[in-house]
Amino acid sequence: MIQLIDLKKQFQSVKSEILQEIEHVLDSGQYILGPKVRELEKSIATKLGVLDAVAVGNGTDALVLTLEAYGIGNGDEVITSPFTFFASAEAISRVGATPIFADVDPVTYTISPAKIEEKITSATKAIIPVHIFGQSADMDEIMDLAKKYQLIVIEDACQAFGATYKDRAVGSLGDAACFSFFPTKNLGTLGDGGIITTSDLELSKKIRSLRTHGTSKKYYHDTIGYNSRLDEIHAAILLILLNKIDSWNDKRRELALRYNQALSNATLTLPVEKNDRSHIYHLYCVGSEKRDQFIERLTKEDIHTGVYYPLCLHLQNVYAHLGYKKGDFPVSEKLSETLFALPMSPFLLESDQDHVVKVLRREVENSSDN
Ligand SMILES: *Cc1c(COP(=O)(O)O)cnc(C)c1O
Repeated sequence: MIQLIDLKKQFQSVKSEILQEIEHVLDSGQYILGPKVRELEKSIATKLGVLDAVAVGNGTDALVLTLEAYGIGNGDEVITSPFTFFASAEAISRVGATPIFADVDPVTYTISPAKIEEKITSATKAIIPVHIFGQSADMDEIMDLAKKYQLIVIEDACQAFGATYKDRAVGSLGDAACFSFFPTKNLGTLGDGGIITTSDLELSKKIRSLRTHGTSKKYYHDTIGYNSRLDEIHAAILLILLNKIDSWNDKRRELALRYNQALSNATLTLPVEKNDRSHIYHLYCVGSEKRDQFIERLTKEDIHTGVYYPLCLHLQNVYAHLGYKKGDFPVSEKLSETLFALPMSPFLLESDQDHVVKVLRREVENSSDN
């Protein structure tokens, strides 16, 4: 069986280091928001080139707390992509604001700056570009719009730790950025976790307070907050993985290049990496009008695939009241009908990858015969 994301192999490769760190945490007597969390926050801020980072319970909370710390809520509009994981929009709704969708670029699948501009109103407060599948959005154009209309930009970088844009790290490009440490993310732990990166120290201070019940001093509460914190065990694990992430991302890029070369004339739509950014291939997705046929064949051969995302956010039941309809975002809709993810992880064996390619190519030939 060839897994879509081989987490077991990934964690086996660092098992002894992780067990040792877990033992240290166990013996330390500090289990939530202790020295390991502080070290992780500092290491990530330094690595990405920002002044601060605040670890929280998960990537969704990272978005919610950031929006709330910026004072975004009832009556406000926040523009984001309809082609992303639900949490990008859910966080906007959770703070009482309205998600406004703008279609994506057909090449990068990230939100189109021109489409964003069409959606800006006097109620617009922020933009949440999503670095989907591990490639940065068009951040210069988005930051120019933000400047022109005085908007906040919060990067949803949950799928893109280590990706770059014009040689700068994603997570350092907007006013703030949110990452997820969910196990399947390219930097993921053995549970939930997330972090906000920013150089806005007023913001990070507010988020630090929000994540522990709105306190700045224990048992003295300034606002209604949350309980959204990172555990020492996860911080310790993530510090180990932080030393591996660059080589793991390089391996993903190498495997993506192998796929691109092997599938170049196979009639599938392949991911395109823009030359001013580096894609970390959190997911390697290809497109075909015959997606179901390919998935069926791969499944029969014990090769796991995934569909990201089968239904665009503007067409979700929960957003029916927003009044969108099918056809509103043709690029996103087509992606949701045609893309599927092939096995990708730093631990995917080249021999397994070759097998995936062989099965795909055979299916392409069969389907062109009939
Ligand atoms: C995973 C993900 C999130 C949410 O992160 P969690 O840690 O699962 O809460 C948000 N946005 C995007 C684009 C994601 O992929």
